[in-house]
Amino acid sequence: MDRHPIWFNGKLVPFEEAKIHVLSHVVHYGSSVFEGIRCYHTARGPAVFRLREHLRRLIDSARIYRMEIPYTLEELEAAALETVRASGLKACYIRPVAFRGMGSLGVNPLKAPVEVFIAVWEWGAYLGDEALEQGVDVQVSTWNRMAPNTLPAMAKAGANYANAGLVKMEAVLNGYSEGIMLSVDGYVAEGSGENLFLVRDGVIYTAPLTLSILPGITRDAVITLARDLGYTVIEQPIPREALYIADELFFTGTAAEITPIRSVDRYTIGQGRRGPVTEALQRAFFEIVREGKDPYGWLTFVEVP
Ligand code: PMP
Repeated sequence: MDRHPIWFNGKLVPFEEAKIHVLSHVVHYGSSVFEGIRCYHTARGPAVFRLREHLRRLIDSARIYRMEIPYTLEELEAAALETVRASGLKACYIRPVAFRGMGSLGVNPLKAPVEVFIAVWEWGAYLGDEALEQGVDVQVSTWNRMAPNTLPAMAKAGANYANAGLVKMEAVLNGYSEGIMLSVDGYVAEGSGENLFLVRDGVIYTAPLTLSILPGITRDAVITLARDLGYTVIEQPIPREALYIADELFFTGTAAEITPIRSVDRYTIGQGRRGPVTEALQRAFFEIVREGKDPYGWLTFVEVP
């Protein structure tokens, strides 16, 4: 782990000083919300992808959990940029977390203070360097995505990742890169840390938010890019078996970016490698984040010109 300064409750502190007590509420009850954001080394300098949208989701996640973050979106934005600058990194992953600190140790989160930190580190291709080109082998998980009205799926909460962790461990121990969760009624939801898209006959499908998926910011970007490239994108429940007869499948996410899936449950998808629609979307996406071309206003440049 890189030892870059961490913004902790309002100021940058050395890596070693960003500590919490074992009796913090979050350690016992998973009471945190967080974000994962990427800063890219673009041809026009380091730039953060959709920073405001990520911080808005953080504030939304906190609101769902009745957590008052004592900073405005603008303050968090400035703090994130300050943390990136302090690291000296040109490209990095940014992890803001709001959590319940040390107060009362009963379940009631309202009795524990809200604390906030932002850490950064270097992070390459999430599912492996070759994955973006070659695609990954995945399984349908035996674990379902949380049911509606259990854990709120629109919140990116630490607690949700107890479920995601089970999915990921099962997949990795079975020799796969990732697991796909089905909703409680058996429709395709998403990966443990990615949204999922399916292509058949040139039309792009993805699960609707009603299936308890995380409203992914990359998902949203890919829907926009796909429509602007002339594709039809349909948000609808996808039956499990549609995965096995898809022409193309791919994951989207901040960490995973746009990662092709070449097999599911040992069924080969399409030609068993990245398909043309996935490649066209990757090209459009990477042109923005690598070349710094920004027709959508998605980049926040780190260095003030
Ligand atoms: N679903 C889950 C469960 C995730 O953890 C993530 C990663 N944040 C995503 C989807 C993708 O979301 P985003 O594109 O906003 O990173």
